[in-house]
Amino acid sequence: MKIGLDFDGVIHNSAKLKSRVCEDLYGKQLPLENCDATKLNGVISLEHYRELQETVASSEKYAKFMEAIPEAIETIKKLIADGHNVSVVTARINNKLNIARTWLKEQGVEILFEGVGQDRSKKEKCEECDVYIDDTAKLLEDLNVKHKFLFSWPYNTDKEGFNRVNNWSEFYEEINKIGGTK
Ligand SMILES: [Mg+2]
Repeated sequence: MKIGLDFDGVIHNSAKLKSRVCEDLYGKQLPLENCDATKLNGVISLEHYRELQETVASSEKYAKFMEAIPEAIETIKKLIADGHNVSVVTARINNKLNIARTWLKEQGVEILFEGVGQDRSKKEKCEECDVYIDDTAKLLEDLNVKHKFLFSWPYNTDKEGFNRVNNWSEFYEEINKIGGTK
């Protein structure tokens, strides 16, 4: 099957890095449940959050602190070994995309990256996908993908009507349940 993956919040633990950068830039904690532009609840301003997002994705200085979400790398390797066609569809473009691709390569995974731009639909780039997973509910809504999954985080628990997975083991199980041709 063709499996599309979001990068930040699905492969890369961007919430953890945002929290670190938030301390550095604003001297404030950013709890996980507030780690979304629509969930800030005054913890930091939207302007600061946008700056945070930009810094986390584009700064070479912080790239060395990027961490994978548990089991992400191992599971991606397993999916590829199982014969699936796995690619990344991300909002990142230009140098942000390059940072992500380089980092994933360093983790031993070289796969196709498609960048769509911040707050843009992933519909076109996901057209061929049988499966797609994202941590932003809004980005899943308009996709014509048969099997869509929301990667659960404290900042998206209020979103209803999505198939959720809590971790990469669950995602792998779901893929195997779908089965189908590879
Ligand atoms: Mg994401």
